Amino acid sequence: MTGSHRTTAPATAPATATRVLVLNSGSSSVKYQLLDMADGTRLASGLVERIGEGAGEGTARMVHTPHAGEAGRRERGGPVPDHAAALKAVAEELAHDGLGLDSPALAAIGHRVVHGGMRFSAPTVITDEVLAEIERLVPVAPLHNPANITGIRTARALRPDLTQVAVFDTAFHTTMPEYAARYAIDVETADAHRIRRYGFHGTSHAFVSRRAAELLGKAPEEVNLIVLHLGNGASASAVRAGRCVDTSMGLTPLEGLVMGTRSGDVDPAVTFHLRRVAGMSVDDVDVLLNKRSGLVGLCGDNDMREIGRRIEEGDERARLAFDIYVHRLKKYIGAYYAVLGRVDAVVFTAGVGENSAPVREAAVAGLEELGLAVDAGLNAVRSDAPRLVSPARARVAVAVVPTDEELEIAEQTFALVAAGRRGGGRES
Ligand code: ADP
Repeated sequence: MTGSHRTTAPATAPATATRVLVLNSGSSSVKYQLLDMADGTRLASGLVERIGEGAGEGTARMVHTPHAGEAGRRERGGPVPDHAAALKAVAEELAHDGLGLDSPALAAIGHRVVHGGMRFSAPTVITDEVLAEIERLVPVAPLHNPANITGIRTARALRPDLTQVAVFDTAFHTTMPEYAARYAIDVETADAHRIRRYGFHGTSHAFVSRRAAELLGKAPEEVNLIVLHLGNGASASAVRAGRCVDTSMGLTPLEGLVMGTRSGDVDPAVTFHLRRVAGMSVDDVDVLLNKRSGLVGLCGDNDMREIGRRIEEGDERARLAFDIYVHRLKKYIGAYYAVLGRVDAVVFTAGVGENSAPVREAAVAGLEELGLAVDAGLNAVRSDAPRLVSPARARVAVAVVPTDEELEIAEQTFALVAAGRRGGGRES
């Protein structure tokens, strides 16, 4: 966090306002959740997708679920030309349930912003100046920040008086020491183009680290963790005493683990080779490594459930894809074990981490000498609760902790609003 920015919100909403709307704006989608921070309840959630695809065949789709239950789920289609129209549709759906954006109960809007660069190490109240800084980061996050910025602009136009907060995916990783964050390339070139390892999924890593410490009955400052966020995108982080000291994603979310469609680590010379020998353009290689690699590139499927089914049927390509995925995971567990020196828990989260017992089992198989193992019975249990899956007296715990990035964004946003209220909004 830079000193020039306000870290607390001006007191714009009444003290009784406890709701936070979380917006995650992608290039053609908006995901949202409305939470009541008085007790953490989810009041509504939904998404608008295929924004800007025009009338006719490719019209947008909106799914809105009130009160966290599938029961009242509403779905509608129709053209949604831009983010302003998408947000208007969201506002209408919320208003339909008596939860409109004009409600005095709404305390703030929290926006997911992918890239905060080196400037933003904490959630930040959005001002014109903050927005301009997020825009200055577009060259390092061309695929993500523009959509986040559009979402922020649209929401500010709709409720200019309301506190809006940016919560950055990179923020949790800004505590990485310089020797972990820097690539070993020419310093002048790297600095001129802001090339360094930023890391992503930080909101999830932060949330899961705190919940894992709770599960261990300790304060976050007392534990060292290896957190494995294995969703479609996947990343590992080494967390010492509640602070990130290394993470597997780098300048972009391409580095590190094998993912659904991304390669993760490859020799950078693969890029020159494909340009020189295969005549591929930079954009071709970009698409290859980001969209046609990882599990999908290796076996044609990026869903671990489908890969599991194929392995059971004796499919060799699916088996190899699984083995490559797990081998990379194991290498990162070993690397971060060495970085941390002492590990209290290895923590699995996100779609694959929370649901795939075979991935968890294979990732720690053979690491008994490091104090790591899973209990087959515990590992097979399906549950939405944070839980241990290691044997009772294991030296290092293996845990499954469901992530909730929206709740984390809402908590961080509301904390700023609450701090602003304590300060009586004087900073505004
Ligand atoms: P995203 O990165 O899109 O938020 P998620 O964290 O929701 O992704 O993870 C999605 C992935 O989780 C799916 O592609 C699939 O591989 C995996 N997954 C979901 N459910 C299961 C399951 N029951 N068993 C194994 N893998 C699962």
